[in-house]
Amino acid sequence: MSTNTPLAIQPLSPLHQQMQQWRREIHQYPETAYEEFLTSDKVAEILGSLGLTVDRGLGGTGVVGLLEGELGEGPMIGLRADMDALHLNELNQFEHRSCHEGKMHGCGHDGHTAMLLGAASHLSRNRQFRGSICFIFQPAEEGHAGARKMIEDGMFERFPMDQVYGMHNWPGLEQGRFAVHPGAVMASADTFTISITGQGGHAAMPHQGVDPVLVAGQIISASQSIVSRNINPLESGVISITQMEGGDTHNVIPEQATLKGTVRTLAPEQRELIQQRLRTLVENIAAGFGAQAELIYRDGYPATINTPDNAEQCRRVAASLAGDENVDWAIAPSMGAEDFAFMLQQKPGAYIWIGNGAGPDCCALHNPHYDFNDEILPLGASYWVALSYQLLS
Ligand SMILES: [Zn+2]
Ligand SMILES: [Zn+2]
Repeated sequence: MSTNTPLAIQPLSPLHQQMQQWRREIHQYPETAYEEFLTSDKVAEILGSLGLTVDRGLGGTGVVGLLEGELGEGPMIGLRADMDALHLNELNQFEHRSCHEGKMHGCGHDGHTAMLLGAASHLSRNRQFRGSICFIFQPAEEGHAGARKMIEDGMFERFPMDQVYGMHNWPGLEQGRFAVHPGAVMASADTFTISITGQGGHAAMPHQGVDPVLVAGQIISASQSIVSRNINPLESGVISITQMEGGDTHNVIPEQATLKGTVRTLAPEQRELIQQRLRTLVENIAAGFGAQAELIYRDGYPATINTPDNAEQCRRVAASLAGDENVDWAIAPSMGAEDFAFMLQQKPGAYIWIGNGAGPDCCALHNPHYDFNDEILPLGASYWVALSYQLLS
């Protein structure tokens, strides 16, 4: 650490090297959804060595470490990190690059895990707090709802937490900064398939059939009226039709056409409205052309929505570490999705962003050249520690 480390994060500085080592080891052996075997072994072993009560198996490879404070009764809080990697070929050449072909820690979950382990390490030796802390290490954040799986497996029954907190590194936000949202921070992400059935026939005699390709075209156009004409202009939503299939050749009107796409929103009301409008348009446009169409709508992750009071507490904790001027409050949310949303549907809490660095060299999440910024490990771990003391004093 440099000598100008802010006072507030100095207690975690001695753990910087240790966290970096954990982080790079995890980076080297990335594991994807529900196969975080080495990673969860490592996490459980470290938590056990710190004297925490370790629970394994929630969500398959999930790990929860329980730490009791020494100041008696108090709330139970949950601090959550994700452990999974992406299906992505790493293009970095540094020493700690992925040893698992086709898998990569391209979202920084290696860093999230290391920061939470660092916080557990510090707090296990400094237990001047009330109540207890659950250190949650979840599997399968990337599209496979590991958080939901842990909840379905009874996490909140086994550990009746009062509040839950999450943190994600954020490229584009400078190192040393945080961003906290008083409401929605990430979007819901649903997918849909529209199956259109017409009546196939000769392309030169279209009047004898019902063309599902034409119907598909009308549905594509009409679907774009939902956000522009049905959603309040001050709210937001995205409908993207990303795939279309139909027909095999140039002289046959096909019997079937299929459209696929995604819907993103920042609030349950818009999510519901878009689904309803899409269904109405799909069924009625098809009927108007003498075809039939079915919308199969699959709920993905809900929007990640912070509880305002808890977010305000997080903002104060972040400001105590980074300075008021280095905490963004209520900046635009991301239309990406995050499965910590499932935990926030059940418990009050907040999910914040920690700057991973900005500028021309800054690499986006899920990019094959991305790497978690090891310089922010002490700041992130300090956030967890300071938040715990703040909530459990
Ligand atoms: Zn990701
Ligand atoms: Zn991520």
